[in-house]
Amino acid sequence: MSAQRAYEDLIGRWKELQLLESCAAVLGWDERTYMPRGGAAHRAEQHALLAGMAHERATAAEVGELLSRIEEGDEHFTPDSTPAVNVREIRREYDRRTKLPRSLVVALAKATTLAEQAWQDAREKSAFGLFLPHLDEVLRLTREVAEALKTGGSAYDALLDRFEPGETSRNLKRVFWALRDELAPLVAAIVDSGKAPDASILIRDYPVPEQASFGIAAAEAIGFDFERGRLDETVHPFCSGIGPGDTRITTRYDRNQFAQAFFGTLHEAGHGLYDQGLDAAHFGTPMGDAVSLGIHESQSRMWENFVGRGRAFWTHFFPQARDVFPLALVDVSPDAFYFAVNDVRPSFIRVEADEATYNLHILLRFALEEALVEGDLPVADLPGAWNERFERDFGLKPPDDAHGCLQDVHWSAGLIGYFPTYTLGNLCAAQFFEAARSDLGDLDGQFAGGEFQPLLGWLRERIHREGKRYTASELVEKVTGKPLDHQALMAHLKSKFRPLYGV
Ligand code: ZN
Repeated sequence: MSAQRAYEDLIGRWKELQLLESCAAVLGWDERTYMPRGGAAHRAEQHALLAGMAHERATAAEVGELLSRIEEGDEHFTPDSTPAVNVREIRREYDRRTKLPRSLVVALAKATTLAEQAWQDAREKSAFGLFLPHLDEVLRLTREVAEALKTGGSAYDALLDRFEPGETSRNLKRVFWALRDELAPLVAAIVDSGKAPDASILIRDYPVPEQASFGIAAAEAIGFDFERGRLDETVHPFCSGIGPGDTRITTRYDRNQFAQAFFGTLHEAGHGLYDQGLDAAHFGTPMGDAVSLGIHESQSRMWENFVGRGRAFWTHFFPQARDVFPLALVDVSPDAFYFAVNDVRPSFIRVEADEATYNLHILLRFALEEALVEGDLPVADLPGAWNERFERDFGLKPPDDAHGCLQDVHWSAGLIGYFPTYTLGNLCAAQFFEAARSDLGDLDGQFAGGEFQPLLGWLRERIHREGKRYTASELVEKVTGKPLDHQALMAHLKSKFRPLYGV
């Protein structure tokens, strides 16, 4: 069989695998939106069956043989060409999946199911002791995963690589600690300024049907295509790119909370724009897939924060908001509203944090989870280490572990090495946005006029349509001309918050 034939065979198999996984994605979306509670046990069986089938296909000996035949063949694909990228990435995924013994995968699935239940209970009672043995077990198994996946770097690198291919702890530290050195003083200056917006503006009466139509209008305005996607309600919002022409985003509404649903919708729409921008002709292959979690997050954060919390955006949307919510906004000036949606204040809960302090939450989790994995921090010492560090970084003392180390689901679910992708998203968003501004000129003028297409077109061409052609760090360099660093994000935060807070 020629390398070309082998390649075609490989791609055919891989597309089928992705079709199977997209079936699971539909079930996952349904589970989190409309499925009645009583369907949970049956849904779990459906998921288990599909996951088993997908695993079999992804790790089939034939896939390994086809890959070897292509790699050993005398036909050499040009680096970064479509076939070269597909083979490289399928090889990566195949190795990753075949390196993990099935017994370990099963043990981890069981341990995390139990750990998630224990975590929920522990968080409710704010009793870390209930979670401790489970976290210990998840960590033990996760270290085994790292051992199996390791290719030279540290255990933590092996775990990080699952979410952010090619990224290393060493590189993250270089950028993250530089960020902290400049961000912490900015946040401290904001706190010391004594200035604060009237945040009560955003917790007035915002009827839910109007919130929904206003959110949809904004998502549509930035380019989310509702012919090829939809918006539904859920408890924990997410975006699911099911396949070409079908991208599902979700949000949650509260009559007395404007920001939660609106910025949540923009955030998920940002993820959705990336999925809608992937090249449909390459669906089911790495060239039609997103680069990494960090790059995905860069798209959501860009639309949510860099665009959606910008002054120019509200120059366009505030008059509409006032029409839609006349009672809530009748006495509110555009400046007061803009300040309210950019309220910076240290708080205990990550998911409620503002654009600036959010990164401090992530940096803390990154340092602690690496110490847990590398064995430098015994699990029993986690609450103490968390609180000590939190007080140093935020000037606040967590009242209990529910407001501290028990607040996030990630560790119970075995998602270790995942947190850094959030701040990577902010860093990449800042660099991309800076580059877009220099290419597209007066972005603010465009946004103020309700024109978002130039930015979206720019992202489509440089990022979305490239699929996995480049790794995240290569993509950042290619698009912005610079390696990842903290400067663009700090420049953005300073230029926004210094004038607002007079610091
Ligand atoms: Zn996101």
